[in-house]
Amino acid sequence: MRTVPEHQRAALALVRPLPVIRVALEDADGYVLAEDVRAPTALPRWDNSAMDGYAVRADDVVDASPEQPVTLRVLADLAAGSDAEPQVTVGAAARIMTGAPVPPGADAIVPVEATDAGTVEVRIRSSARAGVHIRRVGEDLAAGDGVLDAGTLLGAAQVSAAASVGRATLAVHRRPRVAVLSTGSELVGPGEPLRRGQIPDSNSFLLAALVRAAGCDVVRLGAVPDDAATLRSLLSTWDGAPDGDRVDAVVSSGGVSMGAYDVVKEVLAEQAGMEFVAVAMQPGKPQGLGRLPGGTPVLALPGNPVSAFVSFHVFVRPVLQRLRGLAAAVAEPGSAVVDDAWRTPPGREQYMPVTIHAGPDGDRVRRAVGGGSGSHLVGGLARAQALAVVPADVEEVRPGDRVRVMRVDR
Ligand code: AMP
Ligand code: MG
Repeated sequence: MRTVPEHQRAALALVRPLPVIRVALEDADGYVLAEDVRAPTALPRWDNSAMDGYAVRADDVVDASPEQPVTLRVLADLAAGSDAEPQVTVGAAARIMTGAPVPPGADAIVPVEATDAGTVEVRIRSSARAGVHIRRVGEDLAAGDGVLDAGTLLGAAQVSAAASVGRATLAVHRRPRVAVLSTGSELVGPGEPLRRGQIPDSNSFLLAALVRAAGCDVVRLGAVPDDAATLRSLLSTWDGAPDGDRVDAVVSSGGVSMGAYDVVKEVLAEQAGMEFVAVAMQPGKPQGLGRLPGGTPVLALPGNPVSAFVSFHVFVRPVLQRLRGLAAAVAEPGSAVVDDAWRTPPGREQYMPVTIHAGPDGDRVRRAVGGGSGSHLVGGLARAQALAVVPADVEEVRPGDRVRVMRVDR
């Protein structure tokens, strides 16, 4: 049997970060940066006021107090955006708003609250240390400082940082486009009438939403019956699609076990570049991966909904992160203390869907699924907030045990 890290490595080896495109800043949110962004100039670019108030010479106001205000002549009015450079001479002040450049000669800002807010003359009621309420040139970034590294996921703060250093466009990795399909002759569309033996296809919705949550575009192909010819023709359509329609990966569910109608395995096992293996984990033991003849990577997951969910987080999400160009895993695993007890199969790493709640000394977890780790238990999956990861050599989890937890995408 293959270990989980071995199969993760095999999956990651199928892909590389997607080609680089240039996007306008307003579209950059959610992409992964493909260049290092540096500050071309110092930030702030000039000394500027941190307060609405008056730019003064500290020496002029050393004796100012509420009882004995100092009166200064107001020689300019500096709004944010003003490019005026009035010389602040002895006995003078400039009215100044937050963000406006500090005029030459001034070395302190007196907040408007400590004045009578005069516009011709101003009465200053407190002293000001030299340098006070001045944001210094370069105190945020020096010219040439790195602001964002390639491989960074662009969210609100990262996009605004790029804007602040004057970038209108960014080089990012193209967003992956992923086809999702489920297989099984028992599957019908949700809401359709069910005859005995049929069930609604839930996996194609599960996987499509997970692919989207992982920052990719999705083409949900829905459910295909366990028929080799149908599956073969569907896969070749997507594998051979012209450039604009191409998908960067195919994720399938079902049909990878030892059953008589396991059609994914039947169709793909015959192809060079595909492999079907048993991975030492529970759930999720049967797994397939490789490349279609046209080069499209395929991850073939087992069909039990909990198995598909776990397999996505363990194998597919890292592959999608790599395609996106992400430098590091988005969510690093943490740990938590277990509230209840369950058994785990010998020799297989277990991924138990759990709920998380706050305990007296950190996070605690409880099984999301009442009836054990059964990989068919879809109901409990809807409550799962994380997967508790139990090592292969542990056979029983007891209350108070500490386990590794992987947050799941919701
Ligand atoms: P398989 O991996 O194809 O052997 O499927 C294992 C179990 O998962 C069977 O009970 C299937 O009916 C169920 N299953 C497979 N695909 C889906 C799906 N798309 N939605 C819900 N259940 C499924
Ligand atoms: Mg099946």
